[in-house]
Amino acid sequence: VKEQGKNSFLFYTPEMDVVSLERLTLEHEMRNALLNNEYELYYQPQVEMNTERIIGMEALIRWNHPHKGRIPPGEFIPLAEESGFIVTLGEWVLEQACIQNKRWQDAGLPPIPVSVNLSVRQFEQKNLMEVVQEVLRRTGLPPQYLELEITETMTLDVDRASKVLSQLKQMGVSISIDDFGTGYSSLHYLKNFPIHRLKIDRSFVRDLEHDPNDAAIVSAIIALGHTMNIHVIAEGVENTGQLRFLQEHACDEIQGYYFSPPIPVPEIEMMLQDQLVS
Ligand code: C2E
Ligand code: CA
Ligand code: CA
Ligand code: CA
Repeated sequence: VKEQGKNSFLFYTPEMDVVSLERLTLEHEMRNALLNNEYELYYQPQVEMNTERIIGMEALIRWNHPHKGRIPPGEFIPLAEESGFIVTLGEWVLEQACIQNKRWQDAGLPPIPVSVNLSVRQFEQKNLMEVVQEVLRRTGLPPQYLELEITETMTLDVDRASKVLSQLKQMGVSISIDDFGTGYSSLHYLKNFPIHRLKIDRSFVRDLEHDPNDAAIVSAIIALGHTMNIHVIAEGVENTGQLRFLQEHACDEIQGYYFSPPIPVPEIEMMLQDQLVS
């Protein structure tokens, strides 16, 4: 079903740029989807290596389109970023994740932080601090249970960014670097920003067992993180071979299909519930 949209345009005419028409439609639908409650957050557990306990979870958006089925974020987040809609959508994600986490804590589940992806466009907003503060106030979630993930693709004004990130940290919110190692400024970020956690990008994890370069990069990132007193989590862990390597190199935490894919609320609730009794 997902492919239908792309393949249904059989004719191309110069007058009608199908690509931009498709984009325009999607953009319109994306905005309506918020009013129609078509977005949903899935949560992927983050697991502590030594204890195998869930110590965090990442909120990942899903779009349940009434006709096209589930549209993965990779297909609409980039467009949402281009059009600026991500600012509105990102605020919705932030609020939903905080509401949900507060609800779990109120229900007596073990309190753990939720990670929310922050788009560069949100970061550029002058009032980001106020938005975060306001959402925390409205939802009643204590700031230490919120983590914001930033990526190094963000071409940031370093001075402003370090000011904003320091303010967030002072508020009690944690900051992690997502997709670590894929951008141009990994080390720059580490040097200048108050970072709580590094997320090793899954492109380095995938072939870890067979590619000595990947293995070297991953072990170096872990060592670097530890020297700087920063937690290191590996993304995209899918098998025991990868797990063993990460264990041997003392990676603190893992996230990936090996443990669990992103799952809807009732399922993660069950996992958290299990953890309560075990
Ligand atoms: P990301 O932040 O790097 O999120 C991790 C992605 O890796 C997720 O894809 C997750 O499902 C996938 N993943 C997790 N474990 C494994 C694994 O073991 N193997 C493989 N192959 N993949 C794994 P997803 O949910 O499709 O999200 C894709 C991207 O869309 C995210 O990458 C993030 O950049 C963006 N995104 C998702 N939700 C949001 C959001 O609420 N706001 C913003 N700004 N971006 C979002
Ligand atoms: Ca992320
Ligand atoms: Ca990532
Ligand atoms: Ca990514």
